[in-house]
Amino acid sequence: MTTKYGWTGWLALAVVVAAPAAFGQQNRDWNAIQITPHRLTDNLYYLEGTGGHIGLLVGDDGIIMIDDQFAPLSEKIHAAIRGISDLPIRFLINTHIHGDHTGGNAFFGGMGIPIVSRENVYVRLMQGGSPKEALPVLTFSDSVNLHLNGEDIVVVPTPPAHTDGDSYIHFRNADVIHAGDVFRTIAYPRVDDVNGGTFAGSLAALQLLIDMAGPNTRIIPGHGVVSSRDDVIKFRNMAIEVRDRVQSLIDEGRSLEEIVAAKPTADLDEEWGFDPPDLLLPVLYAELTQ
Ligand SMILES: [Zn+2]
Repeated sequence: MTTKYGWTGWLALAVVVAAPAAFGQQNRDWNAIQITPHRLTDNLYYLEGTGGHIGLLVGDDGIIMIDDQFAPLSEKIHAAIRGISDLPIRFLINTHIHGDHTGGNAFFGGMGIPIVSRENVYVRLMQGGSPKEALPVLTFSDSVNLHLNGEDIVVVPTPPAHTDGDSYIHFRNADVIHAGDVFRTIAYPRVDDVNGGTFAGSLAALQLLIDMAGPNTRIIPGHGVVSSRDDVIKFRNMAIEVRDRVQSLIDEGRSLEEIVAAKPTADLDEEWGFDPPDLLLPVLYAELTQ
């Protein structure tokens, strides 16, 4: 059940609130995990390890980092960054709260790197008992622009989607967007309703991503492969199809148990069924029957 992009990493989120120090650290051989840099442009990279992809903008002004995977990987991740550049890390942006994206906050925040996120990420990390150095120091509720390394970076909050604290990071000149986990290429949309996510908001957030992107924009997903706007459109359309099928069954008066038994996504599961199937239908059913 644990693969390269380990869904157990996502399940770790459930533990974030209760025990931030321990999340996601069970049943993993951290020593075996390699951090692999991928270069997208002259000065834009993403790091692949386990957990969410880490974005890096590197230039004379220093480094902007997006997300930081799991705490036990922090030193490896730092070494991988140092393999690219010795310049200081100027900002660390969290795309959302999950432990496979914020687990390294204490390490990097402890180095004095300012962490930037939506206010909801700060509030939930704080309420979950995260140490002070792991907390964002600069939060926002509307779009934020950063101007470093000749790049115009726009950090855009999304509607409540994967969580209620998701952001897109758009590197306008490079024409690259880091989409966090609102867009993953490995599975159905994941709605973390415990952390304020919604399926309807996911559709709206995907539309926002489609609107932000151009035909040549490259989109770094939270998990999976670098994609295009057309890939996001395909993903969004799949999500609408799933919603409509479940809505039809609800309209027929079916219960959640009957809907799960009917396997309404059977023909889609081979492509999108990476996550355990019991994660999608209950949350969608609950939202559609509110
Ligand atoms: Zn996530």
